[in-house]
Amino acid sequence: MADAASYEYDLFVIGAGSGGVRAARTAAAQGARVGIAEDRYLGGTCVNVGCVPKKLYSYAAHFHDTFDDAEGFGWELDAPARFNWSTLRENKKGEIKRLNGIYQRLLENAGVTLCNARAKVDGAHSLTLFSDQGEQHITAEKILVATGGWPWVPDFPGAEHVVDSNQVFDLDRFPERFLVLGGGYIAVEFASIFNGLGSETHLIYRRDLFLRGFDDEVREFTRDEMERKGTHLHFNTHISRIDKGSNGYRVTFTDGKTLEVDAVLSATGRRANVEGLGLDTLGITLDAQGKIPVNERFETAVPSILALGDLIDGPELTPVALAEAMQLTGLHFTPEPPEPLDYSRIPTAVFCHPNIGTVGLSEEAAREQHGSIRVYRTDFRAMQHTLSGSQERTLMKLVVDDASDVVLGAHMVGDDAGELIQGIAIAVRAGLTKADFDRTVGIHPTGAEEFVTLRTPDRR
Ligand code: NDP
Repeated sequence: MADAASYEYDLFVIGAGSGGVRAARTAAAQGARVGIAEDRYLGGTCVNVGCVPKKLYSYAAHFHDTFDDAEGFGWELDAPARFNWSTLRENKKGEIKRLNGIYQRLLENAGVTLCNARAKVDGAHSLTLFSDQGEQHITAEKILVATGGWPWVPDFPGAEHVVDSNQVFDLDRFPERFLVLGGGYIAVEFASIFNGLGSETHLIYRRDLFLRGFDDEVREFTRDEMERKGTHLHFNTHISRIDKGSNGYRVTFTDGKTLEVDAVLSATGRRANVEGLGLDTLGITLDAQGKIPVNERFETAVPSILALGDLIDGPELTPVALAEAMQLTGLHFTPEPPEPLDYSRIPTAVFCHPNIGTVGLSEEAAREQHGSIRVYRTDFRAMQHTLSGSQERTLMKLVVDDASDVVLGAHMVGDDAGELIQGIAIAVRAGLTKADFDRTVGIHPTGAEEFVTLRTPDRR
């Protein structure tokens, strides 16, 4: 085996998404010789076809409510506001181009060699890069596979007519009638986005309630609020076929219902993006969950080949990939090993309308794991909606371990829930008690103060 200095790179990263770029930069900052290959766009899913454009579109969709609400506060909007899809789409493209440039500069300034190429792993320490310039063979002491996930679409007659979450941002024409298949993050977010932008919006999900795994009350509350805003929800059914017609697509459901729409988004999960990487020939194969198995040092079955982010088990979230990248470089490129990564109590937000913010255990999980719990909850019409006339309601909820008084979970459905739960997550992560919440003085008048003024348990 060659010694470390005989390799061209100490670390070669495949995939310049959130996790890959962070690992490359932090390893380079430790003095490692680092290269990175990317054949698509810098910044990966999050920047190009995920978190960033989604949030921009979510902002766009929120204006609908804002215009509706304005009148009660004295604003007279002379004509109904009109939405221009191509303005949003093109402005979004400009912003993403700007971010791609920032990522390029981050890598360059960190001293990372950026290769616009597709990589294939040939051996434990060797890769081939394919680009317009031809093939290049490279050696590296460690190879990090950070190629993330790719949307997956189920098979049914007419499945070729659906768009996936990579494509939906750049539709040529605004879909006046829109259908989303699925019941996860992407499905509810895009149903809310297109509903807010003015489409007649439908969501179809195969079970009885979407957002499986979230707190049940949060799921029910979200269902009611999304319906109140006009999204049509079809549960316990699936698409049996899609036929292209003269005026859009005719979608037939397994329960016999039919629907005419202009676009169908399949938001049915994502799969590890490993095709053509050559990992299987080295004995690195996916487990039953479709993930690459790694140990706590992010080492695959071939220890010099590492993997992180959406490729490995764990929440498919940008901040998780970033944390894993920091952990990985701490383990492999610094003398002092870092503390193990704690995957529990990772806060998350779903940017449906209204937003969901959540950290820690759901009521159901807490009951199962801790037995005796107290649930504090409130739902109310936010102050803003007294004058706006909107009937939108907000849900806030704390799940508390009865014996220790520790807050096990905090959940919210309402405006800016993600912004608010980020702060609450520090308290939950720190293991603070309900008494600590109670001792905290509220900020008035806010919705957030409800989290420190919930005095009486709703149920046990
Ligand atoms: P999810 O895994 O969250 O949801 C997939 C959905 O598709 C589920 O409702 C699932 O149903 C359904 N589904 C799966 N297979 C089929 C099938 N064969 N037929 C019909 N329905 C099917 O995936 P998403 O695509 O929504 O998002 C991928 C991941 O990206 C998320 O899990 C999340 O980690 C991340 N993400 C995070 C966001 C955020 O932080 N705000 C935003 C967007 C994505 P069932 O419940 O029955 O399994």
